Amino acid sequence: MPELITHSCAALVVWNFFLKRLPVLLVVIGTLLPDLCSRPFTILFAHSEMRTFFPVFHEPIPITLICFLLSRLFIPSKRNEAWLALCLGAYVHEGLDLLQKAVAESYYPLFPFSMWSPRWGILHSEATLPYLPLIILVTWGLLSVARRSNRNA
Ligand SMILES: [Zn+2]
Repeated sequence: MPELITHSCAALVVWNFFLKRLPVLLVVIGTLLPDLCSRPFTILFAHSEMRTFFPVFHEPIPITLICFLLSRLFIPSKRNEAWLALCLGAYVHEGLDLLQKAVAESYYPLFPFSMWSPRWGILHSEATLPYLPLIILVTWGLLSVARRSNRNA
């Protein structure tokens, strides 16, 4: 798991360049959902058999269903837009997680249909931490340049 700030920065950049018609807050929340729906419960139930149940909520198909359920909290005319924004944010998260080297757990993007676990193994899970200020600065710079070029267009 690249940590949540890196996930949020990636969501902001992807939103800015590809998803601008969607609500940014929902894209960012969607980016945080896979870890928020799985990690705290895994820690809370670390000494219980239930600890093996919650990581399932990190996978793309279950998180798509969670995003669907959360989108039902919106007014009917905004539900599909909310579902799309939450899902796209969650998929940005899944894509970033696939970049990391295996630590203790694995990801199963095709769960429950397959236990296939691809890893590209480019980053260690904490590799982004020392670069957080730089990641935030680059994100801010990209968004500023994009905002300026939109203003001049
Ligand atoms: Zn994750």
